[in-house]
Amino acid sequence: MSDLQTHSASHTILTGDRPTGQLHLGHYIGSLRQRVALQDLYPQFVLIADLQGLTDNGSNPQKISHNIFEVMADYLAVGIDPAKTTICLQSALPALAELTMLYMNIVSVARVERNPTVKAEIAQKGFSRTLPTGFLVYPISQAADITAFKADRVPVGDDQLPMLEQTNEIVHKMNSLLPEPTLVPCQAMLSAVSRLPGIDGNAKMSKSLGNTLTLGASADDISKAVHAMYTDPNHLRVSDPGQIEGNVVFTYLDAFHPDAAQVAAMKEHYQRGGLGDRQCKQELEACLQALLEPIRERRLQFSADKAALIEILQAGTEKAREVTQQTLAEVKRGLGLPVM
Ligand code: ATP
Ligand code: MG
Repeated sequence: MSDLQTHSASHTILTGDRPTGQLHLGHYIGSLRQRVALQDLYPQFVLIADLQGLTDNGSNPQKISHNIFEVMADYLAVGIDPAKTTICLQSALPALAELTMLYMNIVSVARVERNPTVKAEIAQKGFSRTLPTGFLVYPISQAADITAFKADRVPVGDDQLPMLEQTNEIVHKMNSLLPEPTLVPCQAMLSAVSRLPGIDGNAKMSKSLGNTLTLGASADDISKAVHAMYTDPNHLRVSDPGQIEGNVVFTYLDAFHPDAAQVAAMKEHYQRGGLGDRQCKQELEACLQALLEPIRERRLQFSADKAALIEILQAGTEKAREVTQQTLAEVKRGLGLPVM
């Protein structure tokens, strides 16, 4: 039995990212920051979901393989510590694919088609009859990921809530088929900012929407992104009262500025009139520069040593293999399938 299985802590954390590009501010505020705190409290697994990344990039596998190491550099740069968090690779854990196959038999097509996040993504990507079957069922593979680790807490953005709901349905159905409950239901851990809008003000910052500010963004990228942000279109003169609702600059100040009282005073001043967009943007730029500069520097150092990244991923994946194979064996045995 591994150290992780004998650990007496009361929660197990599993979360992950698709290696479809560099991680961005949405990941940082929605999930990465929580992971850095959680790794000191509980056993934590972080899965690089390369198979899931391929579900809408099947013809461009190089994009996914390249980004595995970009995402690793992001993890280490924000402070995910491989001595505390097990970082592992989905495609190197065959138990996850096998559990997916087993779970696909207990989920109807109607149920996967009803998942609102998947529905929105299908529309966004313009899939109709060209929809890859793998993409439609990726929530089932995500259920396999979570349950294989027997994770009960999942720090994610709010786009993932339908995935966790579907996971719990699978857990209950599968447990009812097994002689004893084997799979563990899970709960989302949402951060205070569970859906950061894109720098274009679009509903969600996403790698695939091209509206991100990445964790490795240069000082110039940060400056340009902040200066291009929409504010209140009716706030024409500095003296005019301005609106903070739907104003991306204030959404970001709320999310990233370290001094909440200062932001509250700025909001009040802006709404009253007399505070210019330029000054708000300067304040936002300064706080994003201060946040991202050290991350960018650490990121560069970690990216320069690919051999070290491979070693960390290999060690984490070996540990994860043991845990996930164990769950698969329990499920197979429970279903009466020979475990050979
Ligand atoms: P893709 O466009 O390829 O789906 P993505 O930017 O949506 O990429 P994912 O790898 O799908 O990123 O998401 C990884 C994790 O980060 C998930 O838990 C997701 O909820 C969270 N996350 C992603 N974008 C945001 C965001 N804008 N705000 C808060 N959390 C986010
Ligand atoms: Mg996504």
